[in-house]
Amino acid sequence: MKDGLGRRFLKRIARFCYTFDLKTTRFIWKAKGEPKFELKGYCNGCGICCESPMIQTNPIFFHLKSVRWMILTWHRVVNGFDYVGENKRFYTFSFRCTHWDSETKLCDSYESRPGLCRDYPRNLTYTVDPQFFEECSYYAVNKNAARLRKSLENQKLPPEKLAEIYEKLHLKE
Ligand code: SF4
Ligand code: SF4
Repeated sequence: MKDGLGRRFLKRIARFCYTFDLKTTRFIWKAKGEPKFELKGYCNGCGICCESPMIQTNPIFFHLKSVRWMILTWHRVVNGFDYVGENKRFYTFSFRCTHWDSETKLCDSYESRPGLCRDYPRNLTYTVDPQFFEECSYYAVNKNAARLRKSLENQKLPPEKLAEIYEKLHLKE
């Protein structure tokens, strides 16, 4: 359902806090050499990332009933994300987005979409092993790819083995 004035207002405030938090955190991480990957490619509009949005929390938020309730309620009422499941190992919640139209592959409230939708898939460059959807035209390249490729080439490995390592370590430009 398309966002009304109230939701747009709440989402704008939430986005401001989210962006501030994200920029501050990433500024601190930058000093530690993060992210290790560069984001390459483009969005082809396949819409797969909207089919089942996921949110990762931390163990405390995930297990503490009151906080958990607040997170899920906020996402349902404000973001239009209906809870569909969770992953206890990674402390993630998965949702069905009520703004997503699977036929047109469009978001009915694109202008007021939450910060996490705007950040995807850049957030993946901050993970240890960025994994994109098969349909996605984005990919990650290790920032040290040129140096690593050079040292691997000196190892005289079989071409298929080399290609496999390139793939695993995100060394392909
Ligand atoms: S999965 Fe990738 S290419 Fe597809 S809509 Fe999302 S960001 Fe764009
Ligand atoms: S709010 Fe829009 S951009 Fe975000 S998951 Fe839903 S349909 Fe996709």
